[in-house]
Amino acid sequence: MHELGLLTDFFKLPYQPVETLAGKFGDLDLTIADFRYLPTRCKFIAMMPQWDFLNFLADRCRRYPNFRLLMQAEVQDLIEEGGRVVGVNATAPGGPVTIRSALVVGCDGRHSVVRDKAGLEVEELGAPMDVLWFSLSRRPDDTGATGGLFLPGSIFVMLNRGDYWQCVFVIPKGSIAEVHGKGLPAFRADIVGTVPLFAGRVDEIKDWDQVKLLTVAVDRLKRWYRSGLVCIGDAAHAMSPIGGVGIDLAVQDAVAAANILAEPLRRGAVGDDVLASVQQRREFPTRLTRRMQIFMQDRVIRNVLAREGPLKPPLFIRPLRRFPMLRRLPARVLGLGVQPEHIRTPERI
Ligand SMILES: Cc1cc2nc3c(=O)[nH]c(=O)nc-3n(C[C@H](O)[C@H](O)[C@H](O)COP(=O)(O)OP(=O)(O)OC[C@H]3O[C@@H](n4cnc5c(N)ncnc54)[C@H](O)[C@@H]3O)c2cc1C
Repeated sequence: MHELGLLTDFFKLPYQPVETLAGKFGDLDLTIADFRYLPTRCKFIAMMPQWDFLNFLADRCRRYPNFRLLMQAEVQDLIEEGGRVVGVNATAPGGPVTIRSALVVGCDGRHSVVRDKAGLEVEELGAPMDVLWFSLSRRPDDTGATGGLFLPGSIFVMLNRGDYWQCVFVIPKGSIAEVHGKGLPAFRADIVGTVPLFAGRVDEIKDWDQVKLLTVAVDRLKRWYRSGLVCIGDAAHAMSPIGGVGIDLAVQDAVAAANILAEPLRRGAVGDDVLASVQQRREFPTRLTRRMQIFMQDRVIRNVLAREGPLKPPLFIRPLRRFPMLRRLPARVLGLGVQPEHIRTPERI
């Protein structure tokens, strides 16, 4: 936002700054990441509803005369000519739409229709958990910081969103029928057992409709592109929610793609070699981040969810308690990512 010259306006939107991330393993409380030393303009993570963020971006884009945003338009198929993708067919509230373009960028998320229709090969990497997502009210005198609680058999993440807590309850993959089968009172009791703070508040969950199941998928495309088309973000590599870095990677993919594609697009058609360089640029940080997530899935999440006895923090986390400077390292990985990208495209109106 700073590099785009939008930071001042961006911070006029409501947000909550998060300077540190907390973790509780069994009885041990510790700070996992400290963002206050990041070598960036903002030394915190800004928590903001996604719709505010996207509306802000869309609004800023409208000053470009050739920008056009079609809301509620859903890509159904690709248009191909001579083996090259030259556009998409979509449905929209006003009826079917055909869009022809020099390049189709598939950024339609983990259930990407674009990558499916393009026939790009997907490698499934698997995840041991699914996630239940709901909110509970937050009181001004609530103690507790944004972070995760790891107790034997349960993992709970709570994010301070001002007047409410965004709550994430991690369950073993495919166990939603079991959770539903035990009933809502048992679910509420599980929440209070994990976070006693919510004792007077769990009754706010009156219906399973308030508890959204987000199925976690981790996968990657072997090849992110074919003639006339490139995939980025979750469409190219669905990330695990661990560390909350999927959006960072998706935005970094977009910045890198813009840097690589802007000039060739301005000159005309984009060759396969240019599309390949988008994948080459972003494959390493994506791979490394995913390795770290899979390490955490296998070493921490799986063990905690299966654990019945007392829980100790994993060995690699313990030094964070004694050596506060080490907390800057996770902050860098979570806040900046493995390979930050910078805006290199000149302003053109
Ligand atoms: C449970 C869970 C929790 C997560 N928590 C975090 C977190 O805290 N922080 C974080 O950084 N990441 C988190 N992630 C990951 C993050 O959500 C994704 O990595 C990130 O949103 C990817 O961005 P994207 O733009 O590629 O895709 P998306 O954000 O999924 O955006 C895809 C867009 O394409 C649209 N679309 C879909 N199909 C079509 C179609 N056919 N035609 C037209 N448009 C279409 C969708 O409506 C959507 O607007 C989480 C993921 C999960 C599953």
